[in-house]
Formats: sequence, C-alpha cells, structure tokens
Amino acid sequence: MFCRKCGKQIDDEAVVCIHCGVATNPQSAINNDPLAKSKLAGGLFGILLGGLGIHNFYLGYTTKGVIQLVLTLVGWVVIVGPIIAAIWGLIEGIMILTGSIDRDASGRLLKE
Ligand SMILES: [Zn+2]
Repeated sequence: MFCRKCGKQIDDEAVVCIHCGVATNPQSAINNDPLAKSKLAGGLFGILLGGLGIHNFYLGYTTKGVIQLVLTLVGWVVIVGPIIAAIWGLIEGIMILTGSIDRDASGRLLKE
C-alpha cells in the first residue's frame, strides 16, 4: 500500500509510515492495541445483557452500569424499571455497534 500522506510505498502491515511517521491505518493500529476493548463484544453485551449494565462494566462506565443494574434489580417494584434498563442497554448496544459510542471510559477507541 501507499502512505496517504507522503505517497511512498510502505509495507501492507505497517501501522506507521517509515518515511513520514503518519499512522497508515488508524483502525488497524487500534486493532493491534492489546488494551482496546471489542466493539462487537460491547455491542452484544448491551443488546443481550444491557438491563444488567454488563456493556458499561465491560467498557469501564461503572456508574452507568450500576444505575442499570439497580434499575433492573430494584426497579421491578415499579414494574417498568427493568424495561427501561433493558431498552436503555439495547440502545447503547446499538450505538456501540454503529460507532456512536466509539471509546471506553478511559478514552481508548474500541477495536473492530
Ligand atoms: Zn508517509
């Protein structure tokens, strides 16, 4: 492939151009980050287990996760609590999968 900045030919696997130092493919750089959380896992957790806040715990948004967990565990008293938490989690799961939420609580971008 060719560098998008300086146009010189670089290795297909290169994360950074050896000529000018620009990141060649940001997504591949993110995917090589061992600490990056998975977008797919985060999205599925939200869709399947969103009412328990699992996707927020996974991404480090602990406060939001606790609120969803409490809504589900305690909110049944007012009947709609678990429904609100489940819909909230579902929406966030979709936002994670579509990239509207693209980073974890520490600001690290999610990998594909
Ligand atoms: Zn370059």
